[in-house]
Amino acid sequence: MKNKTYYIHTFGCQSNKSDSERIAGDYEARGYTEASDWRVCDELIVNTCAIRQRAEDRAKGFLHNVRVHFNEIGKQRPKIILTGCMTHHGNEKLYEMLPIVDEILPINEVGFNTAAIRKDVKHAWIPISTGCNSFCTYCIVPYSRGREQSRDFEAIITEVENLVDRGFEEITLLGMNVNSWGLEKLGIGFRKLMMENKEFTRDDLPDNQSQYLTPTGTPPFVKLLQAISAFEQIKKIRFMTSNPWDFHDELIAEIGRNKKIDRYVHLPIQSGSNAVLYRMNRGYTKERYLEVINKLRAADPDIVVGTDIIVGFAGETEAEFEETVQLSKEIDWKVGFVAIYSPRPGTASFRIYPDDIPHAEKKRRWEVLDQIINKDNFDSRPVVI
Ligand code: SAM
Repeated sequence: MKNKTYYIHTFGCQSNKSDSERIAGDYEARGYTEASDWRVCDELIVNTCAIRQRAEDRAKGFLHNVRVHFNEIGKQRPKIILTGCMTHHGNEKLYEMLPIVDEILPINEVGFNTAAIRKDVKHAWIPISTGCNSFCTYCIVPYSRGREQSRDFEAIITEVENLVDRGFEEITLLGMNVNSWGLEKLGIGFRKLMMENKEFTRDDLPDNQSQYLTPTGTPPFVKLLQAISAFEQIKKIRFMTSNPWDFHDELIAEIGRNKKIDRYVHLPIQSGSNAVLYRMNRGYTKERYLEVINKLRAADPDIVVGTDIIVGFAGETEAEFEETVQLSKEIDWKVGFVAIYSPRPGTASFRIYPDDIPHAEKKRRWEVLDQIINKDNFDSRPVVI
């Protein structure tokens, strides 16, 4: 009998792509084979992104095309399974919104330790944590991917060992905030408040970005980098994403001396205005960001930095935007992923702050920054979460 086939259509960031490799692993372990195209598979898995409204719209558009295609050819469509960050809507709303979906696979059920099916033979993505505890006010991730959970050291190292045995030489460690990998968690009441749908104010947000204490001694993430670097066959290590607030000095020192770590560091700033950073609950100031950059450059002048910026965040005044413009001129970012603020229902900023910057103005601000940061760098954009 012919094996059943699956096809995975992936939207969004590298974490989603990495999850898709593990979903593929799970399907293959159950005897399925990959179809060459969604038009000819038995099961179609749609791995969605919800970071901005446009990302959700793309998934909806894709599912619309699937429906139209099978209606047109008059054939039975594949079973459709939806996963990824759109699951933050909850099953009931999703089935109502997208009646074509047959099944919803919660993203946290995509196990860390399912063997990934990789297309690449040299470079591998390795998830080291899932979820996020940062609660940036604009961000849907803590609601779609749940609380931050570090993967066990042994499991990560076993995966690296297997990859090395198969000839892999480059690793990218993935997590929403890799710096906090393995850190002891502190108590938290905030998410409960959000989930209970209670009213709250900016003061209810946690002070520390990811709510972990600064570790004493070598942070676990640095130890992990050292352990992976100890594999002779591993030539290059990258990681994403980092948060400036807990980009510890020990990590900077390790990057400086350990040349297996890529000289490109991705460090999202989101805004160059301290007032906006506060409203975003980013947990650091512009000065702290500059301190990290200066220390990185002092550790090794070959280090280059890229960033993410959101323009048109709720209440962003012209003067606040100008501060980001000035900073962008000051910091020579290799690349900047500039995004237009998209209010996400369920997040703190959606509830606390009106989305009061007109779209045309957001677009203008996007163009200004994209020009300043990326005008010479379009061809060198790295793939980033
Ligand atoms: N974990 C990373 C961090 O802490 O910066 C970034 C993860 S997020 C998937 C990637 C980028 O999407 C963010 O850096 C931010 O610039 C952008 N983003 C997130 N939520 C957004 C929103 N509501 N509107 C516009 N851009 C958003």
